[in-house]
Amino acid sequence: MSDMSCPDPAIASRRANLVGIGRGELAAEMAAFGAEPFRASQLWHWIYHRGAADFAVMTSLAKGFRERLAAHYALRRPAVAGAQVSADGTRKWLLRFADGQEVETVHIPEADRGTLCLSSQVGCTLNCTFCHTGTQRLARNLDAAEIVGQVMLARDALGEWPSPRDDRQLTNIVLMGMGEPLYNYDNVAAALKIVMDPEGLAISRRKITLSTAGVVPVIARVGAELGVNLAISLHAVTDALRDRLVPLNRKYPISDLLDACRNYPGASNARRITFEYVMLKGVNDSPEEARELVRLLRGIPAKVNLIPFNPWPGAPYECSTEAAIAAFSEILFDAGYSAPVRTPRGRDIAAACGQLKSASLHPRLAASA
Ligand code: SAH
Repeated sequence: MSDMSCPDPAIASRRANLVGIGRGELAAEMAAFGAEPFRASQLWHWIYHRGAADFAVMTSLAKGFRERLAAHYALRRPAVAGAQVSADGTRKWLLRFADGQEVETVHIPEADRGTLCLSSQVGCTLNCTFCHTGTQRLARNLDAAEIVGQVMLARDALGEWPSPRDDRQLTNIVLMGMGEPLYNYDNVAAALKIVMDPEGLAISRRKITLSTAGVVPVIARVGAELGVNLAISLHAVTDALRDRLVPLNRKYPISDLLDACRNYPGASNARRITFEYVMLKGVNDSPEEARELVRLLRGIPAKVNLIPFNPWPGAPYECSTEAAIAAFSEILFDAGYSAPVRTPRGRDIAAACGQLKSASLHPRLAASA
C-alpha cells in the first residue's frame, strides 16, 4: 500500500486521494501540479484500467514524477474488514473506511454475468419496516471515492485487472446495497461517471441499475444526467399500505412516483423500468393486489421483479408461500409483464436483499454467525 511507504502516518493521512475525483478534476489537479496534460490521462489509465494501488508501479511515468506524486497524493481503497463466501458463490465484503465506518458490498455470480451490489450510505434514513438495513440509523453518506472504491475492491478480489473486455466476472452494477442512493445523489453521480468512463472501469450505463424507494424530485436527473437503468422499490399498491412499508411514501405517494416513472428520460420498451415488489405473506401478496399492480403500471414501460422476503432476526414479516408468489407472477405475466421471481442469493451469509447491516454495530449477531 502506498500509505505504508510514507514514513510519517500523519502526513500520509493528509495526502489528497486521487481515487474518486472525476476526469476533469484530475486534469485540473495535474495542471496545478505542473504536469503535462497527457499525464492526467496516463494516471487515469493506471488507476481505473490497470487498477494501480501504488504510484510505484506506474512504469510509463518517470521515476521522479512517481515519487513526487506519492509524496503529495494517495490512491486509497477501503480496507476489507471481513469477507464471506456463500455456498452459492455469492461473496460479501465488509469494508471499513478511514473514520471506522463500515458498509457491505456483495458480488453475485451467475452463468453469463456477475453483478456487484453497491452501498451508498452507512445505514439508512428510510426505515422501511421489512428491511434490516432500515433498522440501522444513518451514520453518514459515502463519498464518491468510497463508492468507486467498492468497485475497485471487487476487481482486486476477483483478479480483474486490467479491466477485462470479455468474460468479466463483474459485468453489472446495482445500487441496491445499504442506503438510499437518491439521498446521496451528488456522490453517487460522481462515482457512476467514473465507473462508466470507457477508458477506465468501463461498465456501461446499460449494465448499471439504480434502485430507489422513490425520491421523486431526483428521479428525472438520474435519467438525464446518468442514463442508467431505474428500479423502483414499490412493494405495495395502495398508499395506506405503502405508507406503512416504505414510510417515504408519506412524502411522495404512489401517483407522484408513477408520474415520475412515466416521464423518466430514456425509458422505452427496450429499456424498461424495474418495479421491485417484496413478497410478504398475507400483507401485499393477494391476487387482487397483483391485478391492481397491472392497472397502476399501465402506460409505463415496466417489468416487475418479485423478491421473496429475506428474513432477519426479529423481522415482523414472513415470506409469502411459493403458491402465492406463483399466482401473483402469473397474473402479471398474463397481462404482458415479465415478472420473474428473484432467486434469493447469499442468504446463508446474510448477503441477500435487505439483509445488509454493519456487523460492527451488531457484535452479538456477528459473533454467532
Ligand atoms: N434504498 C434503495 C436501495 C436499496 S435496494 C431502495 O429502496 O430501492 C434494496 C432492495 O431490497 C429494495 O428493493 C428493498 O425494498 C429490498 N429489500 C429490503 N429488505 C428486504 C428483505 N428483507 N427481503 C427482500 N427484499 C428486501
